[in-house]
Amino acid sequence: MPLADLERLCSPLADNQGMVRTKFSFERDERKAVVFHSELEVEVKMVCQRCLELVTLPIHSECDYAVVREGANTQSVPKGYDVIELGEDPLDLLALVEDELLLALPIVPAHDPKDCQQPAGLEEEPELSEDEVARSNPFSVLAQLKRDPNV
Ligand SMILES: [Zn+2]
Repeated sequence: MPLADLERLCSPLADNQGMVRTKFSFERDERKAVVFHSELEVEVKMVCQRCLELVTLPIHSECDYAVVREGANTQSVPKGYDVIELGEDPLDLLALVEDELLLALPIVPAHDPKDCQQPAGLEEEPELSEDEVARSNPFSVLAQLKRDPNV
């Protein structure tokens, strides 16, 4: 499905171009209840919180859902399943895809540190330029003092 169809998902994104690949497999489990497995894949563009440039992030999400009647007891739903309560209305797969992908987005989007434009100042010491290295070297300061007759 087109990424642009998922408006809530697109609002934190820098770009709504692209497609979401979706795969659903439905079955009845040993309790004869309807369960399904989702597999979602999409590439999203967000703003890297380290360098403020765009970063393309591959998002992959898989989830198991158990469908129950609205108001039904959910105690028998096996662990590891997200419960979907269904009433009169049919299952809204679009909204489900959107919710699942929203949860899969990184809270703090960022490049891989080795690809990031500006890792300086946050996690690593900034690399000194040759000039700064020369200035911070006490011997070069001494050499400068000797050269300056007014000091
Ligand atoms: Zn970055």
